Amino acid sequence: MPARRPPEPDRRETLSSSLGEFHGWSSRVSAKDGADDPPPLSRLRGERRTVRRTASNQDVQGFVAAREQHWHKLLQELIRIPSTFKCEQAMVARVAAHLESLGVGIRRFPHYSHQLKDQPAAQPPFSAAPGRYSLSARIPGSGGGRSLILSTHMDVVPEGNEAEWTHPPFSGHIDEPAGVIYGRGATDDKAGVVAALALLEIICHLPLRLRGDVICQFVLEDEITGNGTLLCLKDGPRADAAFIIDGTRLNRAINQHAGNVEFGIVLKGKPASVGVSHVGVNAAEMLARLVLHIRDAVFALNAERSELWKQFPSPFQISLQEIESVGRQLTVPDLARARFYMTFPPPFTLASMRELVTESAAKFCAAYGLEGLVRFDWDGFAVEPIMAECPSLEAVLQECATGAGLGSINIGPSTGTSDMRHFVAAGIPCLLYGPGDGGNPHRMDEFYKLADLSKVILLYTAVIQRWCGTAV
Ligand SMILES: [Zn+2]
Repeated sequence: MPARRPPEPDRRETLSSSLGEFHGWSSRVSAKDGADDPPPLSRLRGERRTVRRTASNQDVQGFVAAREQHWHKLLQELIRIPSTFKCEQAMVARVAAHLESLGVGIRRFPHYSHQLKDQPAAQPPFSAAPGRYSLSARIPGSGGGRSLILSTHMDVVPEGNEAEWTHPPFSGHIDEPAGVIYGRGATDDKAGVVAALALLEIICHLPLRLRGDVICQFVLEDEITGNGTLLCLKDGPRADAAFIIDGTRLNRAINQHAGNVEFGIVLKGKPASVGVSHVGVNAAEMLARLVLHIRDAVFALNAERSELWKQFPSPFQISLQEIESVGRQLTVPDLARARFYMTFPPPFTLASMRELVTESAAKFCAAYGLEGLVRFDWDGFAVEPIMAECPSLEAVLQECATGAGLGSINIGPSTGTSDMRHFVAAGIPCLLYGPGDGGNPHRMDEFYKLADLSKVILLYTAVIQRWCGTAV
């Protein structure tokens, strides 16, 4: 469709009539003169009251096309706000301010360490840093429809070594020819946050006139504990179903996760002079052997993984994350510590994996005469494998994806983890889907393909309408 200038604002015209003109607008924005800038939100909001019908697909497409560049800029702005664990305050403030600009009521859920420690489902670490909140915004429906939660996370993992990034990790650099935006959190999960904010804008200001409520959660600590979603569900509104917009391309959705567990091992050796090291037990060397022994035992389980999990070459994973040992002067080290992260698919459980690892270590200790010298610390992040039963939600997603020309979505398991477990524990069917194509999450040069933002917004708009029902 050819580009043309947007019409001059006429404050008396109805949104319905101005939406008709959205269809002719180009989504291209001239950075120099702003000639094709999308309409200001205040104008859309001011005209909302005159709408008398539910928005058509054409209305939605016109609205998304007109706002697309604005949402790209918002994503860039959010990437430029670092939001690693304990340092998310500025990001929370920015998202809250945006919600307020939409006229949406906000609930803040403080991450108080003293309260989280008392909750059995909460995971460590617990931060005492002030001013940290997960957010929830609820748009009430007119009644008689199903309610839906959309969950995204505001936190990001650390950027790592900045020198290894092609563009600075918090630059939000846009490669225009490639249609790609770079930066920590670009795809995980600030694109998800922007998609949810855009959906709220569509619901409120197009409007969609839904029967069921839509609740958007913007949580902290998805990357580290999952406690944000826990707080939002414990004290905030629940719903008939939930989508987590985080971590998949548009042809893929996740309905189950492997179990995840983090743990430590401490191995005591026997000191000896380095000149006669054979009379002692070098804890550093012995722990290095033990690490590989346990690793082999865990990886051997992959040979018998169940049919569903054969799409992954090795869903049983164990990764040595830390190892340390220091010998005193001219003395072999007599103490060594290691930390591990392990994933495992069902039917294995936390209990059976712990048993397997401790038995493997016991055999090793018996072979090397180390009984009583190895201690396990099961004190880290630990979640069981989780499966969300949600055939009706899957059917709606497939139906809407087909309608949007995205074809069939591959819905299946993931070796990672997410906050899905809290929805499942609350009895809420849940799928993880979107925000679309990106790459290098948790690594340098994380990126997101901007063209997918409007696609995922359009698809979720259809899903919301289909799931919640429309009033007219
Ligand atoms: Zn994520």
